[in-house]
Amino acid sequence: MKGSNNRKKAKVILSTLHKKVSNQRRDFQHKLSREIADNYGIIGVEDLRIRNMVKNHRFAKSISDASWGQFFSFLIYKAEEAGSRVERVDPRYTSMECHVCHNINYNLTLADRTWTCPVCHAEHDRNVNAGINTLSKAIRQELPEWTFGEISSMDDPSYSNIAALKSILSKNQEAPPEREG
Ligand SMILES: [Zn+2]
Repeated sequence: MKGSNNRKKAKVILSTLHKKVSNQRRDFQHKLSREIADNYGIIGVEDLRIRNMVKNHRFAKSISDASWGQFFSFLIYKAEEAGSRVERVDPRYTSMECHVCHNINYNLTLADRTWTCPVCHAEHDRNVNAGINTLSKAIRQELPEWTFGEISSMDDPSYSNIAALKSILSKNQEAPPEREG
């Protein structure tokens, strides 16, 4: 299984989805998890067990949300059926690290929905940057033998996924985009 879908197109990120998904009904969860599992070979998810240990009560409450747990279990078995991989990654610095130059912006606050990297001046949407970092970690975990160059050149671990992420996020405008870390 491992590596069998290395080249499957585009991988995506779920970390930014969790609050949105939590507000959705079961049929929506089935549909969305099916779509992700069928279309993405490597799916990066922040490991909420780790986050739970390091984050505050407000977030701890939100991640215990039953709907998210349900969505995640749908995703796991559907990914298995589809031959895709779900990688849980360490959530530390996924928001604060600039995905372009890898500088960590310790001044980033939760209120900063968009920010400019003080080192390379790249402009970031908070959730998209965090999603790209989550995905990069997932790829490195899944394909540890790959070099950075291979990851960079592979059917694009970053930019095409921005479009994919935005398209998925746009399916539900209900919940405000918010994440921590
Ligand atoms: Zn930068």
